[in-house]
Amino acid sequence: MLRTEYVRQAFRFIDEAHASIDDELIRVCEIPAPPFQEFARAEYVQERFVQLGLTSVRVDNEGNVIGERPGLSSNPRLIVSAHLDTVFPEGTDVRVKREAGRLSAPGISDNSCGVVSLIALAAALNAARVTTERRIVFVATVGEEGEGNLRGARALFTNPEVQSEVAAFISLDGPGVERITNRALGSRRYRVTISGPGGHSWGDFGIVNPIHALGRAIGRFAAYPAPLAPRTSYNIGIIEGGGSVNAVPQNASMVVDMRSVSSEEIDKLEAYLRRVVDIAVREENLQRSMSGTSLDHKLEQVGDRPSGETPADSTLVRAAMACSRALGIEPRLDCASTDSNIPISLGIPAITIGVGGISGACHSLTEWYESAGRELGLKRLLLLTLSLCGLAGEPVAFSTTADD
Ligand SMILES: [Zn+2]
Repeated sequence: MLRTEYVRQAFRFIDEAHASIDDELIRVCEIPAPPFQEFARAEYVQERFVQLGLTSVRVDNEGNVIGERPGLSSNPRLIVSAHLDTVFPEGTDVRVKREAGRLSAPGISDNSCGVVSLIALAAALNAARVTTERRIVFVATVGEEGEGNLRGARALFTNPEVQSEVAAFISLDGPGVERITNRALGSRRYRVTISGPGGHSWGDFGIVNPIHALGRAIGRFAAYPAPLAPRTSYNIGIIEGGGSVNAVPQNASMVVDMRSVSSEEIDKLEAYLRRVVDIAVREENLQRSMSGTSLDHKLEQVGDRPSGETPADSTLVRAAMACSRALGIEPRLDCASTDSNIPISLGIPAITIGVGGISGACHSLTEWYESAGRELGLKRLLLLTLSLCGLAGEPVAFSTTADD
């Protein structure tokens, strides 16, 4: 496939468009896309999809931008996506500073570079006048980061039609070319709130104290022996409660993050969390039972990302490895929490890959990106797209039964 005239033309486009892709990268990055406020960046992408001749360009109810590039057959189809949102709040200065080959701004790498690569893929296919067997659906998703809880990918795959018609899903996220994320790192997040009557620290001494109970729960929870394999982690990232040194508080809360490559391990960890909170509240109630007061508690889920994997020997992962090696890239399989978590949990083959170039200080105000070498990432993406969707008249890598 490397030798076909189509591929040569697309590769030439990728080489020649380097500077204009950088310009577009700066444009995209300078359109703020805070969590839950991606609409301005979405609008830009929507315009570009229309300009590039994609069909049925639309914004769905959740805010995802969708555009299609028809193939000879309409199903099953390939979805290529990149997330629009950043971790940065409204008002963050997102102007891009350009020094030598380095572009610096919050969100420049995660994920402005993914968004422009999605656009560049459509442009490269057009430049080569390629017709594919399979339809390609381009999606710029919302809500990939943090509290967004993959709401864009979730909305995309709640449509039962989408589920049954997707042969594979590729998410473009961040720089680099080595990493092929085929395993989905699951996470579950809870806010635990303990509450009681509250009162005076001296006058009401002896009544139940939510902070004391929370402390007992934290002590027990932090002793959990998380396994190294399957890798599992936990973190209490926020504690809140109380208002005065001489008042027994009415409320105390903590926000807990639990992650594992195995969903059974997350289930175990969640069960442990529930148990230690129960025990801590019971202990506090027992110790203060003479006062006739008692504590209440509740656990609210504030995040849930499923785990799972696209097998290393699946057609999708094998194709991604082969396309990487064809370009001299030695790929590495990887585990992370990305938009691919959702299709993977539904049994749809999905991977997340980098788009080339290098970056640093991700998720910080000093985030930077260097686009030198991005061609390699874009060429790999182009080859992978063609190998999954097939040039018209040539065989495709996927069987129609989606047997992965
Ligand atoms: Zn990202």
